[in-house]
Amino acid sequence: MNDVRLKNLTLGQMLDEAVDRWPDNEAIVYVDREFRLTYSRLGALVDRLARGLMALGLKKGEKVAVWATNIPYWVALQFASAKIGAVLLTVNTNDRSSELAYLLKQSQTENLFLIDGYQDVDYLQIVTELLPEIKTDPRGHLNSETFPHLKRVFFLGPEKHRGMYSIPEVLALSNVTPKAAYLERQSALDPGDVVNMQYTSGTTGFPKGVMLTHRNIANNGFTVGENQRFSERDRICLPVPLFHCFGCVMGVLGAVSHGSCMVILESFDPVQVMASVEQERCTALYGVPTMFIAVLGHKLFDKFDYGSLRTGIMAGAPCPVQVMRQVMDKMNLTQITICYGLTEASPVITQTRVDDDVRRRTETVGRAIAGVEVRIVDPDTGKTLPSGVQGEVCCRGDNVMKGYYNMAEETAAAIDKDGWLHTGDFGIMDQEGYLAITGRHKDMIIRGGENIYPREIEEYLYTMGEIADVQVIGVPSQKYGEEVGAFIVVKDGADMTEADVVDFCRGKISRHKIPKYVAFVDAYPMTASGKVQKYKLVKKAAELFPEA
Ligand code: AMP
Repeated sequence: MNDVRLKNLTLGQMLDEAVDRWPDNEAIVYVDREFRLTYSRLGALVDRLARGLMALGLKKGEKVAVWATNIPYWVALQFASAKIGAVLLTVNTNDRSSELAYLLKQSQTENLFLIDGYQDVDYLQIVTELLPEIKTDPRGHLNSETFPHLKRVFFLGPEKHRGMYSIPEVLALSNVTPKAAYLERQSALDPGDVVNMQYTSGTTGFPKGVMLTHRNIANNGFTVGENQRFSERDRICLPVPLFHCFGCVMGVLGAVSHGSCMVILESFDPVQVMASVEQERCTALYGVPTMFIAVLGHKLFDKFDYGSLRTGIMAGAPCPVQVMRQVMDKMNLTQITICYGLTEASPVITQTRVDDDVRRRTETVGRAIAGVEVRIVDPDTGKTLPSGVQGEVCCRGDNVMKGYYNMAEETAAAIDKDGWLHTGDFGIMDQEGYLAITGRHKDMIIRGGENIYPREIEEYLYTMGEIADVQVIGVPSQKYGEEVGAFIVVKDGADMTEADVVDFCRGKISRHKIPKYVAFVDAYPMTASGKVQKYKLVKKAAELFPEA
């Protein structure tokens, strides 16, 4: 059934292979900035960047954090850091100062790359506030009390900013690293080395750094590309974030492993998606369900031509059957696939295939991809359940992360002694191995495809003086699937309003995490063992806020 032959390559080897086989094929295109790069030019840019970074002293195993929208240098940095054995740590573009500070500290990051900002968030200002030393310490030799590991900050563009290296400055240093030293560095790398780290809360608790190896993600990207029958003639429209596996693994590595072209959007915009697909004659389109819904419902939808489209991926959240049918009928995506997975699984576990029947392609999340085993277990006993019975989805294979960075206990809780990763999702598998996702064991909220971890917002709200207790839950929403809701118990004698809560969050936590709905209560529904029954709060929120 799984006929894809897996590879044992580093990301650098994967790119070199693409440059050798398809040098003149376009690798990266941006429609809104008339930017085009062939595979040979991408390969040359990556090598110059990598040698420049080595010249500045970047060592194997150092972390390279990237806090940027999908700008053209992003993919070059992904491969340059991989080629020198560094670990690319992707930062969510919605993060604000408290989230960035946590991540830089927990990951012990040595290098930070950033752009000037996104939407109303000024990244440069946040970094200067967190790192006042950047104005006084010599470049490349930061000495921060708060972030003792951080040595270098880079601006991911041509502009110069105080205390940061610009990209042209790094490129100018490339010849300082002898070619032989660069080749030697690459030959010391192993596909089993960690190459990527992404922060996610997984099934419980605070964000954890998921360590993914070259082999993990090279195979995952290659396999999801094979399952869409990609070749060097395919052109993939990528409006999904590169900081998530959807963009940097399923998108970038799915394309590079097949010599396909990436038509990238700096961030999602429905008109840019339609224009990119039409102008570049894209054959594939990726997106979370809300992106497809936004395109289908746009008033300019009928003005664009989707005749070139064939395949693609819808994933990241439950994909409504109606939406799947509409993209097949109205966007010519007759061979679109659904993927299911999570960051800890590199990310894809199951995928529908282009030749599955329509029912399976719309009502299930497909079957295991090559190199991956799936089973459904009873979450209480850990025993394997028969087909047709709901339980927790577990997977084992090439795609399972190496572990969480510096969190041995949490790693052991996620991956059992036999190597099975416990996803925290509920599902039912049929006799042929097709999986349907039926719910979430964990309490994560998914708002428009963006994961939100209640605990993180709860921790932040606990710092508000008037709050005695807080529980954050997902409130069902027509538009986003879920919205954030907070049930608050106020301290005796304190007086507060919904607006006070929102004001306390504004500018401090990501906009999409700020509770849209706030309710004040005296107590929470509890189990006999003293656990808050969040599902009861979810039900109550749906009654209190029916307009959601
Ligand atoms: P992340 O780690 O950000 O990739 O989030 C993973 C979570 O998203 C999974 O554990 C699921 O709860 C959810 N998810 C991903 N893909 C799907 C899908 N196709 N259908 C339903 N839920 C999904």
